[in-house]
Amino acid sequence: MKILYDYHMHSEISPDAHFSMEAMCESALENGMREIAFTDHYEFYVNGVVRPWFNERYVEKYFDTLEECRKKFEGRLSIKSGMEFGQLDISPECNKTVRRYPFDFVLGSVHKLENIDLTHLIVTEKNARSIGDAYYYHLLKLSEEGDFDCLAHMDYFKKHCAKQNLPDLYEEYQPTIKKVLENVIRRGKGIEINTACMGGILEDTMPGLEILRMYKELGGRIITVGSDSHRPERIGYGFDRVYQMLKETGFDSISVYKNRKNIQQPI
Ligand SMILES: [Zn+2]
Ligand SMILES: [Zn+2]
Repeated sequence: MKILYDYHMHSEISPDAHFSMEAMCESALENGMREIAFTDHYEFYVNGVVRPWFNERYVEKYFDTLEECRKKFEGRLSIKSGMEFGQLDISPECNKTVRRYPFDFVLGSVHKLENIDLTHLIVTEKNARSIGDAYYYHLLKLSEEGDFDCLAHMDYFKKHCAKQNLPDLYEEYQPTIKKVLENVIRRGKGIEINTACMGGILEDTMPGLEILRMYKELGGRIITVGSDSHRPERIGYGFDRVYQMLKETGFDSISVYKNRKNIQQPI
């Protein structure tokens, strides 16, 4: 294993995960990780919808638990604070929430379209274009305005097409994806290589080799690697393949973060 930094995982503090931070840390150590970032979910909604769990208390609980883990694993595992913010692009208020807390690292994601999680939308041949258009519209906006450090699983639409055995319409969206990457680079931000669906819904990472190549050609250099684990045993999953992909495309470092400043880590 050559990538020892897993920068995307969820603990039971996230509404959709059920394992303690401590269990995740134990597994990270067993999987040979040197450093991890807990990036629990924080979702934003349009049309005035408020979800009771995404509030100040939620983030306080997150930091308190993280602090306990830092003490417990001191000298054995480096633990960075982070959050995966969904739909940061919907209002300038979202960026203000991000800046309210002392995170080391912030992921920006598009999970929802008009408050409906992509997981609950069934992509069909008929609606694929309209769902894809909406997804990439928000991704582009996020890349222009969001106060994130790295874009999480930027071709997430692909997962939901794959679930229905449909093509991901890459050719259609390639020009938008290029603009997204250009924004990321211009703004000094980065992308994530996410292994969550490997060996399951997808064989591939999100994004895959094609986008990674385009990112390199455009001058991108900031990349984090994340398993997006919601379960301890997935930590570091597929990182050997990511290492190969990075080497194949000419990347010889990945990024780690402290106080939202990126540090290049040779691989
Ligand atoms: Zn996500
Ligand atoms: Zn996630």
